[in-house]
Amino acid sequence: MSKKHNFSAGPCILPQEVFEKSAAAILDFNGIGLSLLEISHRSKDFVPVMDEARAIVKRLMKLGDDYEVLYLGGGASLQFVMVPFNLMKLENGKAAYLDTGTWAAGAIKEGKKMGTVDIVGSSKEKNYSFIPKNYSVGSEYDYFHCTSNNTIYGTQMKEFPKVDTLMVCDMSSDIFSRVIDFSQFDLIYAGAQKNMGPAGTTLVVVKKEILGKTGRDIPSYLDYSLQIAKESMFNTPPVFPVYASLLTLQHLENNGGIEAAEKRNIDKAALLYAEIDRNPLFETFCEKEDRSLMNVSFKLLDDSKKEEFDTAWKEAGINGLNGHRSLGGYRASTYNALPIESVQVLVDVMKNLN
Ligand code: PLP
Repeated sequence: MSKKHNFSAGPCILPQEVFEKSAAAILDFNGIGLSLLEISHRSKDFVPVMDEARAIVKRLMKLGDDYEVLYLGGGASLQFVMVPFNLMKLENGKAAYLDTGTWAAGAIKEGKKMGTVDIVGSSKEKNYSFIPKNYSVGSEYDYFHCTSNNTIYGTQMKEFPKVDTLMVCDMSSDIFSRVIDFSQFDLIYAGAQKNMGPAGTTLVVVKKEILGKTGRDIPSYLDYSLQIAKESMFNTPPVFPVYASLLTLQHLENNGGIEAAEKRNIDKAALLYAEIDRNPLFETFCEKEDRSLMNVSFKLLDDSKKEEFDTAWKEAGINGLNGHRSLGGYRASTYNALPIESVQVLVDVMKNLN
């Protein structure tokens, strides 16, 4: 089977080794004569998977014991709910949010159900084509929420503000893709289905000391403190997504960690943006300084070439290049596992369009 050049925005490409090892574990997990899918999550064979999946995140992020790592269900969307439940005070709760795209707006919508939400910066009026920068967040807020990478619009926060409150970040679409001082955040979450693994689990990294201070009676599943106490096994965890995430993170660790991934991602994005800037037929949706290293969203300026372009990239073996339905155009997602050779194939197709 020859594999496609997979630019899908998520679920998306993962290292081939992850697919192979996952497939083997489904057939016979660690040679125990049972599938990973048919053993108890509390068995002596699975518990070390969960333990190591939690430990490797702290190693890769260079975080200490003041942080806890959770693997939960419900997608990043459930974190839109869990964050305010766990961090917004019951009385006069108030949080600051940065509105940088559809997913940020989704988080804002849920936050508003729990208390006051102030939008301290928004690029909505300009179709989310930039990252707002001039705002401040004071200590009157219970927390500040931002989205590090806007998967649909192709914008990315290059720097994070210094705020006088807790710092929460949705890193779903650029987690483990670039070197960041992760210790500047009090809570990080990310749906696994981009740089981390398959859909079905969500990573939460949280500083323990921030929990238990809202006065809210939190439903059990939604309570980070309870999930921490149960080591992500309050209920049956998504065993396969956790195992495949562990394999993906091991692959990252064995290939130079986040530092090396960042270098590869910079090279890939540079190659693609150079062609977009050179070629008068293409343009990004966003401002140059805010361009994402992970999701390159762009448009074709001459509609009469659309059919030719669509045929050409499909014939070149490219998958998943259509833009999000809300924005249109094209989106090349260049996640960690995408090789630069695939980007070159796309660039060649763009070059050949006259
Ligand atoms: N946040 C961001 C930045 C995303 O890109 C997505 C999905 O693509 C989500 C949140 C929602 O994730 P989920 O589908 O896991 O709920």
